Amino acid sequence: MHPADRSPPQDTCRLCGGQARYLFSHRLLARHEAGYYLCPDCGLLQTEQPWWLDEAYSEALAAADTGMMQRNIWLMKTTAVLLRLSGMRSSRCLDYGGGHGVLTRLMRDHGFDFRCWDAHAENLFARGFEGDPEEDYDVVTAFEVIEHLQQPGEFFKRVLGGMKPDMLLVSSELFTEPVNSDWHYFYFATGQHIALFQLKALQGIASTYGYSCVSVGGLHAFMREPGRPGAVRFLLRFAPRLYPMLCFDSLVASDHQRLMHQAD
Ligand SMILES: [Zn+2]
Repeated sequence: MHPADRSPPQDTCRLCGGQARYLFSHRLLARHEAGYYLCPDCGLLQTEQPWWLDEAYSEALAAADTGMMQRNIWLMKTTAVLLRLSGMRSSRCLDYGGGHGVLTRLMRDHGFDFRCWDAHAENLFARGFEGDPEEDYDVVTAFEVIEHLQQPGEFFKRVLGGMKPDMLLVSSELFTEPVNSDWHYFYFATGQHIALFQLKALQGIASTYGYSCVSVGGLHAFMREPGRPGAVRFLLRFAPRLYPMLCFDSLVASDHQRLMHQAD
């Protein structure tokens, strides 16, 4: 247990800066007790300031993530169909927090100009297509990212307030109030989910930056132009089923040529 273990009644909300209220404590990583706080202003549910992240991201826990490829393929199908049928096939795209570059490579294999950026992981599968979070992109994806953020407010400020993409697509499961500490998405065993969202938190962020948010299950599209939210909702819901009916270009050959040229 952390020597400073305690649960003060309030904690500064790391999304909106408001005063989050103590909700409950729970054991993380089977050995640390951590407090959870709910912000009455924006609706974010956060852990106390996390000090256990080195343990939370140990190699052993990463190795136990056997669903990683399956999720990447599902996200690729959804994103490819959404971009293709939303008229965004030529967009410049950044996979923010893209890990080892699996999704970036899969998206390039489907003809989309994706780049990968991750502060904590080496790009192994999309080498040569590194992104830069200081640049502007038409589309930003951030899958399995926002629940891991120590400073979620900074992330949205940086992306929606700074990069201002036409679309930001994120994934995260949402909770509803009253909060049930049995909710599986707390993932107490890993200690990695430190910022948890409900629908009103995402919608509040969207409106702060002049976006609208369409949410289907665990997928959330922030759009600068409201366009046709019904169509986006339909695509988010049915994209994997539409995927086999569509043909996609591929950047496999041209990427190969480009990298071979650079190696000369
Ligand atoms: Zn807040």
